[in-house]
Parts: sequence; C-alpha cells; structure tokens
Amino acid sequence: MEYKNLGRSGLQVSAVGLGCNNFGMRCDKEQSAAVVQKALELGVTFFDTANIYGGTRSEEFLGAALGPRRKEVVLATKFAGPVGGGVLNKGTSRRHLIQAAEDSLGRLGTDWIDLYQIHFPDPATPIEETLPAMDDLVRSGKVRYIGCSNFSGWQIADAQWTARVNHLSPLVSAQNEYNLLDRRVEREVVPACNAYGLGVLPYFPLASGFLTGKYRQGEPPPEDTRLAAWGARGQQVLSERNFHILGKLQDVADSLGKSMLALAIGWLASQPYVSSVIAGATKPEQVEQNVAAGNRLTPDELAQVDAATRREAA
Ligand code: NAP
Repeated sequence: MEYKNLGRSGLQVSAVGLGCNNFGMRCDKEQSAAVVQKALELGVTFFDTANIYGGTRSEEFLGAALGPRRKEVVLATKFAGPVGGGVLNKGTSRRHLIQAAEDSLGRLGTDWIDLYQIHFPDPATPIEETLPAMDDLVRSGKVRYIGCSNFSGWQIADAQWTARVNHLSPLVSAQNEYNLLDRRVEREVVPACNAYGLGVLPYFPLASGFLTGKYRQGEPPPEDTRLAAWGARGQQVLSERNFHILGKLQDVADSLGKSMLALAIGWLASQPYVSSVIAGATKPEQVEQNVAAGNRLTPDELAQVDAATRREAA
C-alpha cells in the first residue's frame, strides 16, 4: 500500500481508502465489520463516512468495527446533511455543526475526528461563520483537520482566503465526484486544489460499480448489485453514453492486459493531486480487488486512458 499526504497537510493516508456509505444501507453490522477488517488487513488507513449515511448507522457500524484499532486509522466524516427534522438540524451554522460533531463522536465511539468535512455548501450560512466554528473544534482537540465536499473552485478559493486572513485552520481536502466517466472537476476544482494545497478525494471513483465492467449493455443489472437496487436511478448510470466510454476503456484495458478496475482506480491513484481513492465496497473480496488495483499507471498507459475519456468526460 502506498501512503500519500492529504493535500499540503502532514497527514498521511492510504492511496486506496474505504468509502463507507454502504454501511447501514446495503451492508448490515456484521457485513460492514467484515469489509472493515479486510481493509485493515490490507493496509487501508483512510475511512470515509458521513453523519447521514445509512440514517446515521454508517458511523455506528464503522466505529464498532474499528474498535481499539481506531487509533491506527484516519477517520473522516461529514456534516451538513439533514439529521432529524427541522431547519436547525442541517446545514453549516455554528449551532448545527458543533452539535453534529458531538453526535458523530458519540456514534463513532471516539474522542476525535481526523478529518471533518463540510458535506456540501450551505447557501444559508456564510463561510465566515462556518470556518471559525470548525476552527474552534480543531483548537478544542475534537477535530484534527478540516475539508470540504461538493465545493466549486471559487468556493474553495473563497474559503481558503477566509481562513488565511482570519488565521483559521485551512481546508486540506476536497471531496468531489470524479471518475473516468466524469472528469468535470479538472476544469476548476483541481486547479483550485493545486493552488490552495487541498488533496482531492474522488467520490464515486467506480461510478457506483459501473467501472468494474460488471454491467452489460442491453442486459438487466445483475442481482445483488447497487445499480439493480437503485432501480430508475441505476438506469441513469447504465446509459448509452456511459457504455460508449466503457467500450473505449475496455479496448485500452485489453490492449494493456489490465482489468477495467485497474484502469479506474489506477488512473485516479496516479494523479498527483489525488490523496486517496475512497472506493466503496459491499464485500471483503471487493476491498481485496480494489486495493490490488491501486497501482499507478505508467505515463504511456495514462496517456491512453486520457485519450479514451477526455473528450466526453472532461
Ligand atoms: P463507488 O466507489 O463508485 O462504487 C462502490 C460500489 O461499487 C460498491 O458499493 C459495490 O457495489 C461496487 N464495487 C466496489 N468494488 C467492486 C469490485 N471490486 N467489483 C465489483 N463491484 C464493486 O461509489 P461509492 O461507494 O458511493 O463512493 C465512494 C465513497 O465516496 C462512498 O462510500 C462515500 O464515502 C463517498 N461519497 C461521497 C459523496 C459526497 O457527496 N461527498 C457522495 C457519494 C459517495 P455493489 O456490490 O452493491 O454492486
């Protein structure tokens, strides 16, 4: 396993991490524990969850699965999504985010969160309110580093300047959708991350499993897969456009003698600004395959993958 710095911070994370949004949804407590144990066994140290995953059960299952090994890993969670009803229980206000952090600490069964991320921008709260409240959590020892998710390039620049002029903890990471079918972050978000020292954490790195090659055009999605469980939403991923790009990638994979998974994960892991590829998994075997697919591609291999996807996906 390779370990990389998270952006310009000194925090080292495994190049292949584990996304935990299946826990409490597609995975029960026992299955979640099996997935986490396999990840630990293979040297995965970066675990990403959120307070809203699995109706808050993802944090509970992850905390229970880690147990005393919690101190060996980098635990990342998020806030801003609605928990419970009402206008007070969502967003990035000082009031809500401090409560959300306390609740996450309790569910995770830990005294500190390594990376606390704003799940998505909250148009109702100025960043001048959110960042000082997050900084207070850092100073109190409850949080080590802070990050953002689903921010645009200008929102990252705005947040970093707000932190800089007010001597607050800077954002060290940006979590955004990024995979071989969707490279839009390369336009504005990646340049902002490079300029302001944030590591990129690509979410949906496998396009929800589509980039493993297990779905076939014109055939129903195999049972017991996410895109089958998603119904109509799954059909949107199984589009003609996506199968067209997948076909081009399969040609590259065949000519290089590599699996589709090795292209999908290896291509992301090769980008210098990507700190950890947080692929999700529902089974321990998937974690094994995803970790094995985390090797960097050569410059020539990268150029071939780039040529196959740049026009449609970037
Ligand atoms: P993903 O990594 O693109 O896809 C994960 C899914 O693909 C798995 O749940 C599994 O689904 C399938 N899969 C994984 N490895 C496989 C393998 N080796 N062979 C065959 N199938 C495999 O999607 P994701 O888990 O949603 O995204 C990763 C993480 O990003 C999440 O866990 C979460 O932490 C984060 N995330 C963040 C946001 C945000 O707004 N910040 C949004 C979405 C996700 P099945 O077995 O069910 O088919």
